[in-house]
Amino acid sequence: MSDAQLFEKSEALNSEDLLRAIFEQMPSVPACLTCSFQAEDMIVLSLLRQRLPNVPVLFLETGYHFADTYRFRDQVTRDWKLNLVNVVQQTTVQQQEATFGILHQIDPAKCCQLRKVEPLMESLEPFDLWFTGLRREQSPTRRNLKKIERHRLPSGKTLLKISLLADWSWAQVWEFTGKHQLAYLPQYDRGYLSIGCEPCTAIPTSGADARSGRWGGKKLECGMHTFSEKTDG
Ligand code: SF4
Repeated sequence: MSDAQLFEKSEALNSEDLLRAIFEQMPSVPACLTCSFQAEDMIVLSLLRQRLPNVPVLFLETGYHFADTYRFRDQVTRDWKLNLVNVVQQTTVQQQEATFGILHQIDPAKCCQLRKVEPLMESLEPFDLWFTGLRREQSPTRRNLKKIERHRLPSGKTLLKISLLADWSWAQVWEFTGKHQLAYLPQYDRGYLSIGCEPCTAIPTSGADARSGRWGGKKLECGMHTFSEKTDG
C-alpha cells in the first residue's frame, strides 16, 4: 500500500486497526508520542506501548504544570516503565521571568513559543512518526484534523503526524478510560476538561468547548500543533 492509500484508508479504520496498518507498512520507523498525560494521551499510550514498549514519550516540561500533573506523570512512568523524555527549554522559569516578566500573563504566545514550540521542534527531529492524542471535537482549530497528516518541520524534515483518536468523542474517551481502568489526572474530577500549564488552564463553562478554559479563552492552541507545515502527503 502506498502512503497515499494508507492516508485515505486511515479515515475508515478504528484506532487499533489503524495502528496495525501503520506498523505493517512501516515496521521499524522511529516513532514518538507527545504526551501531557491527559486522558487521550493515556489511551494512545496504552495502545502504542503494546507494540512499542519503549516508545519515547515526549513531555513538554514547561515548568508551569500543576503539581498533580507532575505527580501523575511520575507515577505512570514508574508503573508503566515508560521511556519518558522531559522536553525542556534551557532557560529556566526563573530566568525567563527575570528577563521578560510573567509572559503567560502579558504575552502567552511568546511563552508557549519559548517553553513548548522551540524545544519540541528539536525533539521531533529524530522521528518519522509523531503520535498525538488530538481529537477533532476538542476545538474549532482541530475540526479538519486527519488521522494521518504529513508535516514539515522548520528544518525541512518531514514526518507523519498520527492522531489515532481524531474522530473520537469525549464520551468515547471516558468510556475507554473506564472500561480499561486507565489512570487519569485528578483534575478531571474537579471539572477540568483540557489540562495544560496551571496558569493557563481553567474549568470551562458549561457547554463550552473543552479547550475554552485554556488561556482564558484568548487563544485555543499553544503552537505545538500549528508550527509545522501540513503538506499534501
Ligand atoms: S501554556 Fe501558559 S505557562 Fe505554559 S508555556 Fe504556554 S503561556 Fe506559558
